[in-house]
Amino acid sequence: MESIMLPSPVDVLHHTSPVQEKEALSSKNQTRLSSSISSACENSCNWGRRNRHGSWLHSLGCLGVMCLAPLLVIFYFITLNHFHGSISLSSKLLLEIGPLSFFHVYFPQVSSKATFGYTVWYLFQVALYLGLPGQISTGQLTPAGNLLKYKTNGLSAWIVTHVLFLGLSWIGILDPAILAKNWEGLVVAANVWGFILTGIAFLKACYFPTHERDRKFSGSRIYDMYMGIELNPRIGDKFDFKLFTNGRPGIVAWTLIDFSFIAYQYQLHGYITNSILISTLLHTFYVVDFFINEDWYLRTIDICHDHFGFYLAWGSSIWLPFMYTLQTQYLAQNPYSLSTPLATLITLLGLSGYVLFRCVNHQKDLARRTRGDCKIWGKPAKILTVRYKTKDGEEHQSLLLVSGFWGWARHVNYAGDLVLSAMMCAAAGGGGDLLPWTYLIFMGVLLVHRCWRDEERCREKYGPGWIDYCKTVRWVIFPGIY
Ligand code: NDP
Repeated sequence: MESIMLPSPVDVLHHTSPVQEKEALSSKNQTRLSSSISSACENSCNWGRRNRHGSWLHSLGCLGVMCLAPLLVIFYFITLNHFHGSISLSSKLLLEIGPLSFFHVYFPQVSSKATFGYTVWYLFQVALYLGLPGQISTGQLTPAGNLLKYKTNGLSAWIVTHVLFLGLSWIGILDPAILAKNWEGLVVAANVWGFILTGIAFLKACYFPTHERDRKFSGSRIYDMYMGIELNPRIGDKFDFKLFTNGRPGIVAWTLIDFSFIAYQYQLHGYITNSILISTLLHTFYVVDFFINEDWYLRTIDICHDHFGFYLAWGSSIWLPFMYTLQTQYLAQNPYSLSTPLATLITLLGLSGYVLFRCVNHQKDLARRTRGDCKIWGKPAKILTVRYKTKDGEEHQSLLLVSGFWGWARHVNYAGDLVLSAMMCAAAGGGGDLLPWTYLIFMGVLLVHRCWRDEERCREKYGPGWIDYCKTVRWVIFPGIY
């Protein structure tokens, strides 16, 4: 893939200080639109996650999400395992007997086998993360002026894990449906771990911070626990909590879970449907793409801007592996096949969504890595130069791409993702149940909310430069619509 074959300027930035980075950025003469050069942080540096929490209602909302999101995961587990995947049936009973009785009757049981398995799995991923060789990549300048290095070896970790899983299954040592068969205990173990990790993140941020000046306290402990305090919590310089948690156990497990539910479908029904294969194929493209482009991931919101709290710690540990695989979980127990024309259409549309997703993200990454010295659709990239300050008062220069896909909309990279998500769900969603469509609904809400968060943050970071950008690129996600 082009993005990894090109000489990467992050390698050039490797071993450079923030000041050197600034100089490197300023030294390029590029085709640029005029821009306001004034800084957003004249007196203080407030960009990054909010350092205020809004009203107490806002904190209450965060508390609500921390309580309800785990219950929602469990509700889905119950719906799949006791109501054939029918949300209308499970909701009806929940309303009839009340949530307390409902969860009392159906709440998943703790399993020592699943808890042990989950612990071994987690430690195995830690060992791969620390032990496998990988390219050293550089992140982006933080508000406090830190430029961190990361070992990006996710692809090797994914390959080792999958070869081991498939190999052991092939020779009969491992039942490939093991995850599906222990799903109940895994839901509980992962949930508990997500909360423990959130607690660790909170206490570490308060008492043993890695980069003190990159912490944000909002005045609300609930908000801080939810959104995180530390930007880049680490143990030493080797173990990065955020890259590991966001990018390893959950995302590596994503495809493994799918494979396990395919095996489960076969064991239950004696055949494998094209719908479960298409859903898994689209997931696999997305996951493998993520690991091939792990260096790119270092310049996305998750790593550059979101702090490490419940949102990322619990979200990546439980929400991602359990809710993103709902389609294959559903199909394993409720198999149905797609007609050949429909299967072809869904696959092609899904792959088109993926290609759009990758091409758009690649354009932005290319523009950033070459500092605008590149061609987009055969023409020199159009760049808007913007400025911002770090906490030490240093002024830095950055660029916003405004040509190619990025001339169409400010978050056009979300459009391809939404098309791909829709097709992942369409492969499983023809049976009339709402459950397989959950991922699309979630992605719609997540990405629109992400646009709002990102726009607020970028306005604070770049000030008038961002206002100019919004005037130049008017649409948010879908040109002409939103
Ligand atoms: P981006 O990768 O688009 O990152 C946004 C940041 O990029 C901004 O904060 C800004 O950061 C910079 N930026 C914004 N506009 C421009 C521009 N025109 N030119 C150059 N830089 C710009 O967003 P996300 O991290 O949200 O998403 C990355 C991908 O991951 C998306 O395709 C999304 O669909 C996908 N995704 C998937 C999720 C899932 O759960 N499946 C969850 C979240 C995202 P700055 O200027 O400060 O560097």
